[in-house]
Amino acid sequence: MALTGLEIYKHLPKTNCKDCGVPTCLAFAMKMAVKQVSLDKCPHVTAQGKAALESASRPPIQLVIIGTDSNEIKIGNETQLYRHEERFHRPAAVAVRVSDTLEDDALARRAEAIGRLAFDRVGTRIRVNLVAVDNESGSAERLEKAVKLAGEKSGLACLVMSAKAGSLQRAAAALAGRRPLLYIADPAEAEAAAGVAKQENCPLALRANGLEALAELTAKINALGVEQIVLDPGSRGLRATLEALTRIRRLSLKGFRPLGYPAIAFAADANPFMQTVEASTYIAKYAGVVVTDLVDPSQILPVLTTRQDIYIDPQKPVAVEPKLYTVGEVAASSPVLVTTNFSLSYYSVEGEVEASRVPAYIISVDTEGTSVLTAWASDKFNAATITKALKNLGLETRVSHRKLIIPGLVAVLSAGIEDESGWTVEIGPKEASGLPGYLKRQWKSPN
Ligand code: SF4
Repeated sequence: MALTGLEIYKHLPKTNCKDCGVPTCLAFAMKMAVKQVSLDKCPHVTAQGKAALESASRPPIQLVIIGTDSNEIKIGNETQLYRHEERFHRPAAVAVRVSDTLEDDALARRAEAIGRLAFDRVGTRIRVNLVAVDNESGSAERLEKAVKLAGEKSGLACLVMSAKAGSLQRAAAALAGRRPLLYIADPAEAEAAAGVAKQENCPLALRANGLEALAELTAKINALGVEQIVLDPGSRGLRATLEALTRIRRLSLKGFRPLGYPAIAFAADANPFMQTVEASTYIAKYAGVVVTDLVDPSQILPVLTTRQDIYIDPQKPVAVEPKLYTVGEVAASSPVLVTTNFSLSYYSVEGEVEASRVPAYIISVDTEGTSVLTAWASDKFNAATITKALKNLGLETRVSHRKLIIPGLVAVLSAGIEDESGWTVEIGPKEASGLPGYLKRQWKSPN
C-alpha cells in the first residue's frame, strides 16, 4: 500500500534545508505521499533511507511490459481496489485469439482483421493490443510459422499460448526482440518455460489450478530470476474468474508478494454478446490482460469503451480545451453552435456536425468539463459565460451573421443570451444526434 507522509518523513534527513525546493522535510514527505514529488529531488537522503523507502513503496503489483516500440503495453503497478480512491493507472491489454490450426490464408485474414480493430472515441484512439496465437495444433513448427504470420499481418505485439515450453522457445526465437508475452498452459512445463522467458527476455504467464498452487508456482519461478510474471489462476467462466481476479487483487494489495502480479483472464462464452459482457467485466475487475475471440467490431468496441471509461481519472472530468473549433471548410455564412467542454458533449456535437457535411463553428465553453445540463444547473453554462466565449473568441469578425445555435436542452437561456450578446438565438435539437437533420433542413444560411 502507498506510504503515508509520516511514514516517509521517518526516513528523510529532517534538516529542513530546502534544497528540494520545499520549505520542510515534512512538507516534502506530504508531497511525496501524493506523488507530487519524487525522492530523487532530495539530494541528502541516506542510502539506508532510500533503500527503506524504495522497498516500502514498491508497488504491490509488479509492472509488466509486453511488446516494444509503438506496440509496447505496460500492465500492473496498480495500488487500489476502488478507483474512486485513486485512478487505475495501466489499462488492461486486450488480446484477440487466433488458432494455429487455421490454414495460412485464413490465419492471415483473421490477423489482419484483428489489427484493424481500432476506433476513435472522444478524441482518443482505442484499439486491441495483442494478437493471441494459440498452439492448438500442438506442433512447435506450426506455432513458429503462425506467430510470424500473425505478428506481421496484425502489426500487433503477440501473446503466444502453448502447453509446451519447447514450442514457446521456437515462437519466442521467431519473434526475437519483439517481447511477446509467453503463456505456458501446463504447470509442469513452467520451469522450462521460465528458462525460455529469461533467455529471450520475455514476460511469462503462468497457469495453475487455484490460487494456492499459483502462489507456490510464482515463488518458484521468481526464485529462478523471472520477475515479469502474469497470473492465470485456472478459473474459467464469469463467476469463478471474477472471484479469482478479485481475490488476487485483494491479496496483492495486502502485500502478499507471490500474487503481486497482473492477471490474465479468458472470455470464452459461446455467445459472442455474453463474451462481450465477460471481457468487459474482467476489465472492470481486475485483469491485466483479457483474451477474447471477438473480431466483429460491434462486439469488441464495447469492451474497448469499457476499458477507456474504467481507466480515466474519476476525480477529473474528461474535458477538451475550451476554444473555437471548426468542422469542414467554414465560411462567413457557416452556422455557429455552442456546447460545453465536457469531452463527450463536445465530441458528440463534432461527430454529428461532421456527419451532416455542413461546415460549422463550434464554441466549446469552459464549464470545467461538465455536460450541458450539469453545467446549466451549476450556473457554469449561462447567458454570461456563453456571451463571454462568443466575444472572446472573435466570432463577430469571422461570420457575417449573428445567429447562435444553442442545445435544445437549455432553450430557457435564449432570451438572456439575446439580451447580453445582441445575437439571435436559434434553438437546436435536444440531442446531438438531431444535428445532421437540423443543419440540413432547418439551418438557413444568411447568404
Ligand atoms: Fe528535507 Fe531533503 Fe528537502 Fe532538505 S532536500 S528539506 S533534507 S527533504
